[in-house]
Amino acid sequence: MGAIRAVSSEEFDDSRFEQSRLRMVQEQLLTRGIADERVLAAMRRVPRHLFVDEMARPAAYEDEPLPIGSGQTISQPYMVARMTELLELESDSRVLEVGTGSGYQAAVLAEIAGEVWTVERHGALAERARRVLARLGHRNVHVETGDGSLGLPHHSPFDAIVVTAASPGVPPSLTDQLAPGGRLVIPVGGQGTQRLRLIRRDPNGLQETDVLGCRFVPLIGAHGHPSGEVRRLRVLVEGRVQGVWFRESTREEAERRGVRGWVRNLADGRVEAVFEGEPAGVDALVRWVRRGPERALVTEVTVSSEAPQGEQGFRVTG
Ligand code: SAH
Repeated sequence: MGAIRAVSSEEFDDSRFEQSRLRMVQEQLLTRGIADERVLAAMRRVPRHLFVDEMARPAAYEDEPLPIGSGQTISQPYMVARMTELLELESDSRVLEVGTGSGYQAAVLAEIAGEVWTVERHGALAERARRVLARLGHRNVHVETGDGSLGLPHHSPFDAIVVTAASPGVPPSLTDQLAPGGRLVIPVGGQGTQRLRLIRRDPNGLQETDVLGCRFVPLIGAHGHPSGEVRRLRVLVEGRVQGVWFRESTREEAERRGVRGWVRNLADGRVEAVFEGEPAGVDALVRWVRRGPERALVTEVTVSSEAPQGEQGFRVTG
């Protein structure tokens, strides 16, 4: 089912923008071989200018990606059309999008498919997309906040999954959530340029096709790229924690999680440590410290944050 068009005031769709939109479809999509009528119709309908910042509106129908805040971008119209076409959507398809951004791609999907789930890791972007999509009357789109590299297992299987951020590989969590015959479209590669890949789940397994070169912002998450954020915490541990392999075990656990820093015994019987690294890794190490190694008895753990210092490796001292 397409969207229910609740509103059609000039605020939403003045004719100036409609002219540019029809020209965009003609000049950027038809000439480059987009042929699926449903995709072309959706691209003619969805008011792209409402998904970009007010200042970027005049450029909304240009042949380029545009900034949408939080360091993210809305893809070039051709890329949106091409990815949508590769998904081979039907009016009853269940679709997952990873990387909601502005919500524009989700609106295009919702014009064609039955039900669309879209996941965004930035809460502010998700909220804004939710508002625009609701204003436009798209009732078949559900915007969720979280790490979309894990998919949405409780809503799977999906007939089509589209990832609109660059992934270091093809996340098994996503191929696992494809229905038989389902299609996954995903840009794979590092932070510069990537290759757009189409993966189809057929009875003989997963069939992969290389489509074209592309450039997306990174997919950040469990099956994506590391966030590049650094968390540094100071941890004080009380209990029976000295002379029970506490420091050595902490070093091993830290190294296993790629966490840097140091650990030492204090004169008053406590253990002090500083952990620095990827937030998820540091948090997991703190959770481990609360239990401690086999022979330890942890009674209290105090955690405070410290300014990043640029630790190297993990040292046991004192
Ligand atoms: N499809 C969007 C453009 C997406 S830009 C549109 O039509 O406007 C890529 C988006 O992916 C960014 O908003 C980024 O925050 C988001 N993102 C990156 N990693 C993510 C993850 N693991 N889960 C969900 N969203 C993610």
